[in-house]
Amino acid sequence: MNAPRYLKFAGPVIDEATIAGVGDVLRSGQLTSGPWVQKFEAALSSFCGGRPARAVTSATAAVEVALQLCGIGPGDEVITSAQSFFTVLNMIVKVGATPVFVDCDPITRNLDLKAAAAAITPRTRAIVPTHWPGSLVDMDALHALAKRHRLRVIEDAALVLGSRWKGRAVGAFGDLVTFSFHPNKNITSIEGGALIVNGDDEARRVEALRFHGITYLPDRTRDVAFPGGKFNLPDVNARIGTAQMARLPEFLAQRRALVDRYFERFAADPACELPPRPDGDDGQSWNMWSILLPLDRLTLTRSGFREALDARGIGSGVSYEALHLSTLGRRYGYGEGDFPVTERIARATVTLPLHAALTPDDVDRVCAAVAAIISSARR
Ligand SMILES: *Cc1c(COP(=O)(O)O)cnc(C)c1O
Repeated sequence: MNAPRYLKFAGPVIDEATIAGVGDVLRSGQLTSGPWVQKFEAALSSFCGGRPARAVTSATAAVEVALQLCGIGPGDEVITSAQSFFTVLNMIVKVGATPVFVDCDPITRNLDLKAAAAAITPRTRAIVPTHWPGSLVDMDALHALAKRHRLRVIEDAALVLGSRWKGRAVGAFGDLVTFSFHPNKNITSIEGGALIVNGDDEARRVEALRFHGITYLPDRTRDVAFPGGKFNLPDVNARIGTAQMARLPEFLAQRRALVDRYFERFAADPACELPPRPDGDDGQSWNMWSILLPLDRLTLTRSGFREALDARGIGSGVSYEALHLSTLGRRYGYGEGDFPVTERIARATVTLPLHAALTPDDVDRVCAAVAAIISSARR
């Protein structure tokens, strides 16, 4: 028998027309930011209700630029969830501000807004919530809280391009919103990200911040007033991203169908904790499918479980480690026991394969493997 196809836990679908389009860009001579960046930004902006979108080289760059756009730096505090990706911690520290962690909701994994409210001090400047696939941060409560305390909001929407809140697309409202186009996300530009801003003035400042801090003077020389980075997206990437945007609805539908299948299959043997199940088409996008292992009832560690999956040709991930327990996070005085929900998720979570190139049969294979591994490891 042939070994079954290895199932990566995440990955892109890139069609031949896009590959040919990249060839066209390479032959055009316009390789770095050019007309395709403008087209990509126009597509993103139109998806986000007409708000200005600016493309950058990653979501990480978008978060850094967003913090700089808000003028956040030394002496400022930024509230974020301890259950998130390293980007939020790193960029807050990188601009010289202090990360203030709060715990997350045990079911949705989104930042706990009550804890965020309690963490606000006179030095707080912004809240950076990471939206989880399957359920967004409560946008009404979040923006009301920010408004009450005059805080900026930088939504880390890396995982949720295509999710909607009460019918409106993430990015179409709010304050600053960042997206990622890394190959593991809902669409890809290989590497790439975008920042959605409030108006043309902010968009112009982002253009400077992503390109050396340069502004153009009337005599056709340049000036720099702020040490900007080098985060402009090349046209090759924007060409891919533009083609991917056109396929986003299809990718989202495929992911959605696979998640429905996961819910069905896991319903038979709910040995693991699952994400909240959507009620009909509730407007959520599904970038990841992460379960919590019942580790206290297993003779296996998580890493043993993942090895057993690997042995069956199934990839997996950990989303996410607890940020406050990273070496960098601990430098801000955090330690074990500070955020019990985050820590429990960080210990027990496993991300199973979910992407637009999977089939329902692949999902069945993953579920059968998970069930077999768990039942053979029950205490
Ligand atoms: C992927 C991801 C990022 C970083 O995106 P890049 O484009 O790789 O910089 C940030 N936050 C979250 C929640 C992510 O999943």
